[in-house]
Amino acid sequence: MNKISEWIKNSRKIVIKIGSNVLSNDEGMANIEFIESITEQINRLRKQDKQIMIVSSGAGICGVGAMHMWARKGDINYKQALCAIGQVELMNAYKQSFAKRDVHVGQLLITGEDFEDPSRSLNIRNTLFTLIDEGVVPIINENDTVSIEQISIGDNDTLGALTANLWNADLFIILSDIDGVYDKNPKTHADANLIDEVTDSDKLMDRIETDGTSSFGTGGIRTKIKAAVMVNSYGIPMLLANGKNKNVLNDLLDDSVKGTIFLPHGGKTKS
Ligand code: ADP
Repeated sequence: MNKISEWIKNSRKIVIKIGSNVLSNDEGMANIEFIESITEQINRLRKQDKQIMIVSSGAGICGVGAMHMWARKGDINYKQALCAIGQVELMNAYKQSFAKRDVHVGQLLITGEDFEDPSRSLNIRNTLFTLIDEGVVPIINENDTVSIEQISIGDNDTLGALTANLWNADLFIILSDIDGVYDKNPKTHADANLIDEVTDSDKLMDRIETDGTSSFGTGGIRTKIKAAVMVNSYGIPMLLANGKNKNVLNDLLDDSVKGTIFLPHGGKTKS
């Protein structure tokens, strides 16, 4: 079995999805310290000649951070309005942090329909390639303002997987609030065991127990496994790791933390 660090070191094009749990602190506000730290680690990877795209959740929590009195409003229009406000806050945090490293960021807000429409997905692809070619870090999120149920991708794990496939990435990394996938939910079962390597992502759900989703995240572990199936079918490996560890990318590169690597069938990757 290859070490996790090898998968990262051998990948040039990497999509990193950052979950809302990771981006929020214990008060449910945007965790600026984390953004600073992840930006620094991403920049370190860029200096090693890697190309990075970020898929970032967190608009909702940043919106609550800015508009405290709306926190309890459950109506969909308020939720979408909170995301509209929070998206600016979120991008501002990324922008400021990358600017300290002389790096520009570009924002893409996308819906599920965009991937189904050939001319729209071609436009997304062209924009992404141009940003990357010019050394800009694309930051992608679902366009919550237009994403009503019928057209929404629903979670950024899936959006990240679609992006990785569209870009033909070498590796898709999901940063969540757990070390990886377990045989049962580690938050409710003390005896849960981490699964280091999965080579049959499409059958994994039959072997493990899953329950619950977070208060902020909409995905849960099931959508992460679905995302793995999507990228694995394109020959792209997926790594699930714990972004609650502020130093996660550096630690993965040192093999000092664990994670779950999902490999395409038979361990065969596209390259
Ligand atoms: P994010 O906001 O990062 O997308 P989610 O909260 O949506 O994260 O999903 C991760 C959560 O899934 C974990 O915190 C964990 O409580 C839950 N979970 C349920 N079953 C499992 C399992 N078998 N292995 C790992 N996590 C699990």
